[in-house]
Amino acid sequence: MTDRLDSTDFLPYGCHDITEADIECVVDVLKNQNITQGIIVPEFEAAISRYVRSRYCLVTTNATSSLHLACLALNVSKGDLVWTSPTTFVASANCARYCGAEVDFVDIDLTTGLMCLDKLEAKLELASKNSSLPDVVIPVHLAGTSVDMRRLHQLSLRFNFSIIEDASHAIGGSFEDSKVGSCKFSDISVFSFHPVKIITTGEGGAITTNRKDLYQKMLSLRSHGITKQVHEFAYQKPGNWYYEQQLLGFNYRLTDIQAALGLSQLRRLDDIIIERQKLRQNYIDLLSNVPVRYNQVPDNVASSNHLFIIQLIDSMERSLAHVFDQMRYFNIGVQQHYVPCHLHPYYRNLGFEVGDFPVAEKYSQISMSVPIYPGLTINDQNRVVHTLMDIVNN
Ligand SMILES: *Cc1c(COP(=O)(O)O)cnc(C)c1O
Repeated sequence: MTDRLDSTDFLPYGCHDITEADIECVVDVLKNQNITQGIIVPEFEAAISRYVRSRYCLVTTNATSSLHLACLALNVSKGDLVWTSPTTFVASANCARYCGAEVDFVDIDLTTGLMCLDKLEAKLELASKNSSLPDVVIPVHLAGTSVDMRRLHQLSLRFNFSIIEDASHAIGGSFEDSKVGSCKFSDISVFSFHPVKIITTGEGGAITTNRKDLYQKMLSLRSHGITKQVHEFAYQKPGNWYYEQQLLGFNYRLTDIQAALGLSQLRRLDDIIIERQKLRQNYIDLLSNVPVRYNQVPDNVASSNHLFIIQLIDSMERSLAHVFDQMRYFNIGVQQHYVPCHLHPYYRNLGFEVGDFPVAEKYSQISMSVPIYPGLTINDQNRVVHTLMDIVNN
């Protein structure tokens, strides 16, 4: 087996990429009059809208707050039902719980790791008979690979639910001819700008939509539910200091400092996506002699390749826990995406249990993300694959 390398050779599963140009853009803002609510936030929002071709965009403190605002905009509340994928980060489900709604999950497709739309359709047909249809479905574009939004949209028309795309992994990706975030087949899309994601603002998130009513409500809720627009006032203003709080909102605002970093990163997004596609292809080539599978990308999808997820095959002697620990021992920062959401204690306490979503559970017993990010070299990728090969063959 290869010798263990020292910790300077640690390869994380994901890593941000900050250039000198990014730093200059941030420093420029720090010298400005406004470091929080200046002109850069709206500039960043307009740039995202232009990129994904959505009518509206608003940026927030993170994707978690974006998902919360999205649910509130769609009036998700107590007595409502929201369905999402069990193979996701907990925030995709928690947003519905913040609003007092019930959550349920739809099992996944093993080959892609995405919500299985056959299972969704069957579950909707059953729910339709029991009058327990969901109000909102939140598909998760795992690893940056879009769910089949055309089919999901058709189901939403037939069964009358709204769609929030959890596109936290997927900025820069496409479904058919549309960028993820265009909301061609959904009400709202949400992106994350956490440093492990495709582009970063430190912490940060963005919401896109084509619906003016949803946009205006989220805009208000992002900043305490306060308006300063005279034409929106419920009462006569006593003077020019006046503003009104009309809804119970939050402070979910992104700063100009963060937006400057995001705007600068967004300029490189297409290059980042090309590099990630190349990294995926390298892995596919290098893995041709290793007895593992990896998540598939459907033909009508261009993935952002946020993650590269390998799957151990059934007959393998080595358990995932063993392979995972050995990879970590050799300084390869493998990670799992994800512990099935319904098996977290919080969700078990709501009544979910082992066996509820067997494919997601099986997936979690065989899948593991390996490092993928711009700057990862072919030597790094070789090291990842050779280490893996040594482990599974020994
Ligand atoms: C990262 C992530 C989130 C939350 O993003 P934050 O910006 O950290 O709040 C939500 N959903 C998914 C699928 C994610 O991967």
